[in-house]
Amino acid sequence: MSAPAAAAAVPYLPLTRPTLDEETIAGVVEVLRSGWITSGPNVKALEGKLSEYFGGRPVRVFNSGTCTMEIALRIAGVGAGHEVITTPLSWVATSNVILEVGARPVFVDIDPVTRNLDLDLIEGAITPATRAIIPVDLAGLPVDRDRLHAIAKKHGLRIVEDAAQSMGSTWNGKRIGATGDFVSVSFHPNKNITTIEGGCLVMTTEAEAKLAEQYRLQGVVRSGLDGMEVEVVGGKFNLTDVAARVGLGQLPRLEEFNGKRRELARAYFEAFAAHGAAALGLGLPVADLVQSNWHMFQVVLPPAVKRAEVMAALHAAGIGSGVHYPAIHLFALYRRLGWKEGDFPKAEAVCRSILTLPLFPAMTRADVTRVVEVLTGILLGHGKS
Ligand SMILES: *Cc1c(COP(=O)(O)O)cnc(C)c1O
Repeated sequence: MSAPAAAAAVPYLPLTRPTLDEETIAGVVEVLRSGWITSGPNVKALEGKLSEYFGGRPVRVFNSGTCTMEIALRIAGVGAGHEVITTPLSWVATSNVILEVGARPVFVDIDPVTRNLDLDLIEGAITPATRAIIPVDLAGLPVDRDRLHAIAKKHGLRIVEDAAQSMGSTWNGKRIGATGDFVSVSFHPNKNITTIEGGCLVMTTEAEAKLAEQYRLQGVVRSGLDGMEVEVVGGKFNLTDVAARVGLGQLPRLEEFNGKRRELARAYFEAFAAHGAAALGLGLPVADLVQSNWHMFQVVLPPAVKRAEVMAALHAAGIGSGVHYPAIHLFALYRRLGWKEGDFPKAEAVCRSILTLPLFPAMTRADVTRVVEVLTGILLGHGKS
């Protein structure tokens, strides 16, 4: 008699994973064989499709969702001596770009419910040096665009929306990016659609788009067959055609991907309710199943629970998790610039205990149930051993 087959191991559930179809992979191979692999016809085609998606606004693509914000600030003339208001709860890119152009970030605390910057605090942070606001739609949950734009208009400020995480989210029925001032999106592999690395900037005027092209590539402006001029210090931020071809395969699937993410988010809420998450002291995200693209599903652990222990226990059970993000103002670089513990207590409390759970289109409801069972089990046992 042969030994009974071992129970099939449950495969490791990663925090996230991009969905790339065979048609896109074949398209990439075609670009690789075409003889033109850097910025070219695929970049132009992706910019055309994105512009269509964003209601006809000018769009340019770049090799990251970080440089897009830096370039927007440069186009807006933000630099030395200026201040830019933003949130301490974001990927550090959001405020690094402010330093990069020579300006000073001015953080305001978050609303612990939405985890986005607290719009009530913005007007109190405005000084004569303020030039712009960079709001972040954390996890895809949109900041109130009506209030944001009303504040900016009243004080004559520019807005650079860090919509890195909110591709496909909406505000009052309008797509993020289809309205507003500068809108920056990231196509990093963890984001809702990807170009491997990459991003796009949505602008308002063709003049801004022309300037964006200059900042994208060494400030170069070509004319005629042999003319070249340089007037601004540009960088090296162009997207390759290989990457753009990935994006052309991803964009038509955005609504499908986000629909799947919403369905999984709903499953998380149902499973957490069934497992008594509230009684365990677990903080759930705003249950916005309409406007958010559910880029991430993030919980806030009870303050007494050690996050690293929970992450280790999840990992041991075959489940990935992540931290998005540590508070920006408490990084060494920012402490050296004068910020300290206690400056933004609401953000600090959330940043200490926030935990991102697996959520990506190829996941199943059964995966969600398993994550919730394992996590609530860990919290029930926490401190008992
Ligand atoms: C991903 C991300 C960025 C930066 O995008 P990259 O494409 O990685 O440069 C900026 N801000 C936020 C909030 C992000 O999530």
